[in-house]
Formats: sequence, C-alpha cells, structure tokens
Amino acid sequence: MATYKQPCAQCGELVEKDSRVCPKCGSRAPFGFRCPNCMKPVERGGEACPGCGRKLMVPCFYCGNPTFAGADKCDFCGRSVMIRCENKRCGEPQFFDVTKCMACGKIIKKAKKQINNMRKGAV
Ligand SMILES: [Zn+2]
Ligand SMILES: [Zn+2]
Ligand SMILES: [Zn+2]
Ligand SMILES: [Zn+2]
Repeated sequence: MATYKQPCAQCGELVEKDSRVCPKCGSRAPFGFRCPNCMKPVERGGEACPGCGRKLMVPCFYCGNPTFAGADKCDFCGRSVMIRCENKRCGEPQFFDVTKCMACGKIIKKAKKQINNMRKGAV
C-alpha cells in the first residue's frame, strides 16, 4: 500500500497522513487541530466542534483559564493538558476531559486521578 505524506502544519516536515504526531517537531496536530472527541478538524477560536458539538474552550485544570481543546497545551500557562490512555499497550495522550481514548476506544476512568497527580506535580 502506498503511503501518503503531507507536510506538518507546524514545521513542514513530510509526515505520513495517518500519523497523530509529527516525528520531527512532536506536534500533536501535524495537519491542523482536531476535535479530541470525534477527530474532525476544528478551528482555533471556534466555540464548538462542528462534528460532535462539544465545547472547544474548556477551563485548564492548572490555571482555570479557557484553553483550546484542539491543542495539547494550555493557551495561558503553557502546561500540557493531556492525560494518558490507561490501556498499557496504547498509552496515547488524550485531552484531559475526554472519557474515551480516541486511539483504542478504551474508557478512561482515572482521568481525575491523573489530573490531580499532575496538579500536585506542578506545584
Ligand atoms: Zn512537525
Ligand atoms: Zn467533535
Ligand atoms: Zn493553564
Ligand atoms: Zn488508548
């Protein structure tokens, strides 16, 4: 099967089209921002996802300021707002308020615990 490559939106490196992460710059949005729920492309500054309707601005669990759900870092404090999928074979970072891993479909039950640990670690 042929693999299609597309330039990363952040650094320009050619990245395989189904990649979630740019291998060069590590960006989690190599082809633009995506909804953490349904993976539809979303625009920064949008109110809600056009695909599933989820809110795109959610309060950061560190600083409480509204941050864009398509990005992996808080717009205000710059800290990562990603938790890890609890499936050991997956472990994909997921946006902190999702209930299900987009990569493997596992329900994420310990999100609160992970968030608490991250907040403690950040002090
Ligand atoms: Zn890149
Ligand atoms: Zn969506
Ligand atoms: Zn923040
Ligand atoms: Zn997973």
